[in-house]
Amino acid sequence: MGDTRLKKAYDQLEQEILERKRAEEKLRAAKEELETRIAERTFELRSANEQLQVELAERKQAEKEREQFFNFFQISPDIMVIAEPDGAFRKVNPAALELLGYAEAELVSRPFIDFVHPDDKQLTLDEMAQQKRVGSSLNFENRYVCKDGTSRWLSWRANYYANEGTTYATARDITDRKRAEEELAKYREHLEELVKVRTAQSEQSKQQAEAANQAKSLFLANMSHELRTPMNAILGFSGLMRSDPDATPGQRDNLDIISRSGEHLLDLIDKVLEMAKIEAGRMAAESAPCDMGAIIRDVTELMGERAREKGLELSLDEASTFPRFVTADAAKLRQILINLVGNAVKFTQQGHVTLRLSSTPTDDPHLRRLVIEVEDTGVGIAWEDQSRIFEPFVQVGTAGTQKGTGLGLAISRQYTELMDGAISVHSSPGAGSLFRVDLPVQLATESQVLKTQVDTGTVLALQPGQPAYRILIVEDQLDNQLLLRRLLEGVGFRVQAANNGAEGIELFRTWHPHFIWMDRRMPVMDGLEATRRIRALDGGRDVKIVSLTASVFYEQRDEVLAAGTDDLVRKPYHAEEIFDCLAEHLGVRYLREEPVTPLVEDPSMTLGPAVLAPLPTDLRRELQDALIRLDTKRISGAIDLIASQDTALGALLARYAARLDYTAILHALQSDEGAGP
Ligand code: ADP
Repeated sequence: MGDTRLKKAYDQLEQEILERKRAEEKLRAAKEELETRIAERTFELRSANEQLQVELAERKQAEKEREQFFNFFQISPDIMVIAEPDGAFRKVNPAALELLGYAEAELVSRPFIDFVHPDDKQLTLDEMAQQKRVGSSLNFENRYVCKDGTSRWLSWRANYYANEGTTYATARDITDRKRAEEELAKYREHLEELVKVRTAQSEQSKQQAEAANQAKSLFLANMSHELRTPMNAILGFSGLMRSDPDATPGQRDNLDIISRSGEHLLDLIDKVLEMAKIEAGRMAAESAPCDMGAIIRDVTELMGERAREKGLELSLDEASTFPRFVTADAAKLRQILINLVGNAVKFTQQGHVTLRLSSTPTDDPHLRRLVIEVEDTGVGIAWEDQSRIFEPFVQVGTAGTQKGTGLGLAISRQYTELMDGAISVHSSPGAGSLFRVDLPVQLATESQVLKTQVDTGTVLALQPGQPAYRILIVEDQLDNQLLLRRLLEGVGFRVQAANNGAEGIELFRTWHPHFIWMDRRMPVMDGLEATRRIRALDGGRDVKIVSLTASVFYEQRDEVLAAGTDDLVRKPYHAEEIFDCLAEHLGVRYLREEPVTPLVEDPSMTLGPAVLAPLPTDLRRELQDALIRLDTKRISGAIDLIASQDTALGALLARYAARLDYTAILHALQSDEGAGP
């Protein structure tokens, strides 16, 4: 019994142990599972933690960057704003607050457009709309109103971010620049106004000056008429009388003196008128091929005589490069040289005067610069006077008491400048002066120069077999009327004369002339009016009318031609001009003297024993004999013979003979004889 109980207890114990073991087994399994779970969870947690760490670091970095940008935002001197999609300020930086004078709370959440100047609101809205359409950043300018009521100009650069719908914008205060611009615009306006006023003023003074100039021109035209009209008669009649076969050699000499004096007087009148013309701005250079050699020779001969009379030496120093044939205004060039050499001789008491000629090439092979210098050992010119002497009517120093007009240098300068050249002076008082002219000229050829000098021979009579031309002279000056009548009747024209325009019209009606010489100025009715009326009459279109005028102004030609005249001839005229004009308009043909072939002189040749030495003895003797007997026919015969052997020498002698300077030729012949074998 005890045993059973024991066995039972033992069994029970065993059972319990077994159960415990099972429970332990279960427990272990559960524990293992738990441990596995813990390990898994730990792993999960650790990786989550790592992820978190990375995110944390990234967030910190972003924070830092935001902070950095915020710093920029805070410290930027330029305005920076962010606007919400609805246009309200989301953020504004201190620069904006400071400039506009608002607290942050007064701006944030308020529409930015409320702060834009009323005049600029539309423009700003348009800009913003454009901005949203285009997407890229845009620039524009507008005004913002500050809290104190003033406004500032801002220059914006804004960018719209479509994904956020926000606009980021920066702006710079350009108020000062705008004000400067406005000031400038105001100044410009003022300036424009000022320019307008000044232009009006100068237009007015120009008109006044023009009126004064016109008055001056009128005066000149009158003076010219008054002075040149009688000169026309003096020169014309002495010319006619000289060609009278009955005139004695003595009378011819006297007539030559009258002619020369007349020409000289005309020259003087011309000089004064010339200056006046320059001053009235009515002068132009007239270039043509010319012989520099001949010009220089003329001047040195003319002035050489004066120099010799004063015991001065006038020498020519010509470089071999100095061109002989050039295209220039010969008359003006000659005048400049005469003025400069004339002054040098006038203002030098002892020593010498040198005319120095050279030239320099230019880039253009046809263009040369002439350098003409006139140097003297005379009184000189004080430094302070050296620029003044080129002014009209200025005479300086004690030399100013010398006879002169004070016009020579003024004319010389004007002429030089008209020809695009320059004139200057270097002088030391007591030692002398050097005037230099620097002149650009085109080179020319000998044949071009000869062409301008063709002599067609003197008109003797009308060729037979032509209509009996009727020529009407309308001229109030009886002397001039007579002169022209003699000239025309002399070669066979039929001539009638009227004393004024009205008489001229009457004669036109009754006599039907082919050609009318119409004086410009006449009492009762002037030439222009008479011409107009004749043109309106029957046959008035067919008659040739040529105006005769003593005006110095070539441009009056237009006025004269506009009145209906065919041409214009200036007084004093040469007979040749009258005949040529008739030939041109009526087709008249003349019988002429045999034309003289032009003799060309060699400018390096001067009259002296040396050039005459090669002449045959009998020819020399014939010339000498004719000269001593003053037999002009024999003189010209001998010169013609010489010319047939040596044209240059013939030309040289002919020129002396033409000036009646027989003594110079005789002198050269006689010293030659003395020096000869
Ligand atoms: P004019 O000789 O008729 O007085 P110009 O115009 O030719 O007029 O000269 C003006 C002035 O310049 C002269 O009066 C003289 O005082 C001065 N002058 C000109 N050339 C010379 C010179 N070669 N030497 C000294 N003085 C001169």
